[in-house]
Amino acid sequence: MAKPDPQAPATTTMGPAWTWQGGWLQQARHLPSPNFGERPAQALVDLVVVHSISLPPGEYGLEVSAHFFVTRLGEVWQFVDCDARAWHAGASSWRGKDRCNDDSIGIELEGLEGLPFESAQYAALENLCEAIAARYPVAHLAGHEHIAPGRKRDPGPGFDWPRLRGLLSRHQATANWQLPPRAGQPST
Ligand SMILES: [Zn+2]
Repeated sequence: MAKPDPQAPATTTMGPAWTWQGGWLQQARHLPSPNFGERPAQALVDLVVVHSISLPPGEYGLEVSAHFFVTRLGEVWQFVDCDARAWHAGASSWRGKDRCNDDSIGIELEGLEGLPFESAQYAALENLCEAIAARYPVAHLAGHEHIAPGRKRDPGPGFDWPRLRGLLSRHQATANWQLPPRAGQPST
């Protein structure tokens, strides 16, 4: 359970009122990537995976993609339809399930692994998560480092998990999302 952030406003904010067209978020800047596939027919999207990436967008390489990218200014770009399977997780396991690409949404934060992220990025992430919760039955959010421990380290120790937990706790749709118990430690 997420604990409320004592510094957060007592009232629940109404959220960004972002809208979907299929699996595309209308308020995001759309930069469609060719790197995606179909989700398995029975997939229920119940996980959001947070990454950090320092490469300029579009230079992921041939077989890497995420659904979203959040710039240092908090702009949200979308590369892949959320109804489709992006290739961001690789070999991974979380909440008792493997192959996290099948049923997760990947969000890349612009930044260097291990260094802090901008307030605008946390705000965008909060809005993005609330929008995702309006369309997908998400119940879990974790870092790449949690779902692929030993292999990946992003977003790393510069990401403020208690801060995100506090932001998500302000919205009914995301308040019950399960976050890693402690940064860098997978749940058991
Ligand atoms: Zn990653």
